[in-house]
Amino acid sequence: MSPETPDYAEIRDAVRALCAEFPDEYHRRVDAERAYPEAFVDALTKAGWLAALIPQEYGGSGLGLAEASVIMEEINRSGGNSGACHGQMYNMGTLLRHGSEAQKRQWLPKIASGELRLQSMGVTEPTTGTDTTKIRTVAQRRGDRYVVNGQKVWISRVQHSELMILLARTTPLAEVAKKSEGMSIFLVDLREAVGHGLTVRPIPNMVNHETNELFFENLEIPAEQLIGTEGQGFRYILDGLNAERTLIAAECIGDGRWFIDRVSAYVKDRVVFGRPIGQNQGVQFPIAEAHIEVEAADLMRWEACRRFDARQPCGTQANLAKYLAAKASWEAANACLQFHGGFGFACEYDVERKFRETRLYQVAPISTNLILSYVAEHVLGLPRSF
Ligand SMILES: Cc1cc2nc3c(=O)[nH]c(=O)nc-3n(C[C@H](O)[C@H](O)[C@H](O)COP(=O)(O)OP(=O)(O)OC[C@H]3O[C@@H](n4cnc5c(N)ncnc54)[C@H](O)[C@@H]3O)c2cc1C
Repeated sequence: MSPETPDYAEIRDAVRALCAEFPDEYHRRVDAERAYPEAFVDALTKAGWLAALIPQEYGGSGLGLAEASVIMEEINRSGGNSGACHGQMYNMGTLLRHGSEAQKRQWLPKIASGELRLQSMGVTEPTTGTDTTKIRTVAQRRGDRYVVNGQKVWISRVQHSELMILLARTTPLAEVAKKSEGMSIFLVDLREAVGHGLTVRPIPNMVNHETNELFFENLEIPAEQLIGTEGQGFRYILDGLNAERTLIAAECIGDGRWFIDRVSAYVKDRVVFGRPIGQNQGVQFPIAEAHIEVEAADLMRWEACRRFDARQPCGTQANLAKYLAAKASWEAANACLQFHGGFGFACEYDVERKFRETRLYQVAPISTNLILSYVAEHVLGLPRSF
């Protein structure tokens, strides 16, 4: 943190105090049971932390991205996993920025109070992967409804959400001037959709993360659930990515600090060959290196937050922050696991759980390679590769 950056001590202390009520044993048990951390997410919701980015006029606390990022960082630093609930913080951004006043008045106060959860966003598809403009899920207008057919994959928290943002093609790819046009965003009421055109199939996966395949078969969505202008949905999704990437960078920084704290404490205590293993430079250096990288990533996270909150372009900074933070937390995870020796693999140390959790951020919500590609093309002006 540079001297000019506030330390947000009040928010940090309050989130830390809440997180302290959910110690390692809680997160370990939830992980072992492959359960959803209901009590933890409920407590965060009731305390208003997940409504940080919703303006006060719609019932939220109207904080900036910097404050929101501190909340996510502290959750991960406490040993928790923001992946269970971060969608509730940023998915509403699409509605806030592009929804009509009537839509905002209808939905945002209930999202802010937690009465309705907008935890899910359905973009990724099995056959198209990162090449989003090729999505095959279609929404056809029929009178006062849209009828949706297609398939999505890896859509998180659907079983713990009442609402979902959905990206679907409304004009066939062959009929649009630019491939990024002709896609639209809908607010899907999952309470009505599931079992009436939407089938949800959970995907067991490496992390305790509720994520699913979705099958749409003539799902009807009222036309008033379209957000913004038909055909502009891809642009709306892109608009939300800077906040998402910056928040996830902060989560990775929280993870990185958790790993470094844990491993530093462990190597001071663990005596092998008659001295603490932390006295060996071969042990010290990877930990020191990870610390340096976490701190460097943190500076870029603050720069992304500062620009976002000042409404300046921040795509580059958000991407760089996500890249640096995910890399730093992964290096910290490796050092932490390595220097716990065999104990790193024992669930009771929590290292293997956090190791699995932080690994995800090399791939989702955007893979490291795609960030490199963004930098090559949009920052360095190299030829477009795809
Ligand atoms: C646990 C989990 C939760 C998720 N939650 C959601 C969600 O809630 N909503 C949602 O919409 N999606 C979600 N996703 C999907 C996630 O965003 C994608 O998995 C991710 O964007 C990568 O897409 P893909 O899996 O289709 O990989 P692909 O596009 O098939 O790419 C595979 C790999 O190939 C490489 N690659 C691909 N293209 C290029 C290229 N042009 N240049 C260089 N390398 C390339 C990258 O390394 C990439 O990791 C989730 C994924 C996971 C694993």
